[in-house]
Amino acid sequence: MTGDDRLTVAVPRESRADEQRVALVPEQVGTLRAAGMEVVVETGAGSRAWFCDDAYAAAGATVLPTGELYAAAGVVVGVGRPRLAALRAGQVVVGLLRPREDPALMTRLAALGVTAVSLDELPRTLTRAQPMDALTSQANVAGYKAVLVAANALGRFLPMLVTAAGTARPARVLVLGAGVAGLQAIGTARRLGAVVHAYDIRPQSREEARSVGATVLDLTGPDGDAEGGYARALADGEEAALRTALAPHVAAADVVVTTAQVPGRRPPLLVAEEAVKGMAPGSVIVDLAAGPEGGNTALTRAGATVVTEGGVTVVGAGDLAATVPIAASAAYSRNVTALLTHLVRDGRPAIDRTDEIQAGVVVTHLGRVVHPVIASLLDKDGGVPR
Ligand code: NAD
Repeated sequence: MTGDDRLTVAVPRESRADEQRVALVPEQVGTLRAAGMEVVVETGAGSRAWFCDDAYAAAGATVLPTGELYAAAGVVVGVGRPRLAALRAGQVVVGLLRPREDPALMTRLAALGVTAVSLDELPRTLTRAQPMDALTSQANVAGYKAVLVAANALGRFLPMLVTAAGTARPARVLVLGAGVAGLQAIGTARRLGAVVHAYDIRPQSREEARSVGATVLDLTGPDGDAEGGYARALADGEEAALRTALAPHVAAADVVVTTAQVPGRRPPLLVAEEAVKGMAPGSVIVDLAAGPEGGNTALTRAGATVVTEGGVTVVGAGDLAATVPIAASAAYSRNVTALLTHLVRDGRPAIDRTDEIQAGVVVTHLGRVVHPVIASLLDKDGGVPR
């Protein structure tokens, strides 16, 4: 808290070396101050996204050296995980904390007496939660960047070009998984002049892909709706049949962007090694589903780029949103500000898990892991104390 006892929101410099984003940009400082909060920013917090300390100060924030930041904080807003050693009981931590991937972190935050609020757990289908939907805002950025990464690695033009030296045909781009990132990839590839095909196992996504200008592959694959607008996991046989059906379309593509995810499961394997062998030399795959458990292709290595013997570049894209840091930070900052204005009542975080939004995002409170799904993961992991 500051001297006048207003709630202080602290913005640390992100600790991950490849993280260029910052959780709050100067534009939102005034909004939080108008809502009764003070903002303190760690020296250099926004510099990797080109938001300088002076811009925060001009917007009304106080810029503090590292050692003083956490001590002043009632709420710490970050993109990734906070510096645990600096936290103290009673503080609220907001971020994309990935509690399903790292439930043990939640145990540690609970043990510190910290209230962990994770934007990954937002109930995304609630209309009033949409301004807070950081998964959507960041997937949008990643889908856009995926096409630029592909274009950069591709040995040919994306658009059709007619020049005195001849005519170049447009590149053929295939987008697999037409959720938020996939739809943005389709739009971006179309704007760059490519011929775009797409596929998703959810009929609604196929319709959305069509509406943003993709030709949807006519496959007799399984429909895969699950709860909350997500896809269901396919049975092994269904997934293998889908791979076989997709293979000729993969082979015909110059660029494949894959984005298919199923919550809580390893990403579906959509592109087999044989299908990659069918692609022309110089083609590119960008796999946005790449993670520690693999990705949508058999050759994906998370965070790495592999060039096959056949000359196909497979980019295991890490968090591409972090590589467009101005746009990604600006959008994330609006999400965080919307969440904070929802959480804070009469100048204090009002934790109330009967509220539908909070029932999703509040993972630890008063020394316990209070989110039932995350708590059950801890139980399953074998005796990690709640
Ligand atoms: P995601 O990242 O979980 O998955 C990306 C896409 O991959 C999804 O469209 C999914 O259907 C698809 N997919 C999964 N398995 C597949 C397979 N075997 N083959 C082909 N495609 C496969 O999804 P997301 O982008 O985070 O969003 C999922 C959906 O939720 C979107 O359609 C989005 O519009 C919806 N959503 C709704 C709201 C809302 O209602 N307010 C908010 C956010 C997102």
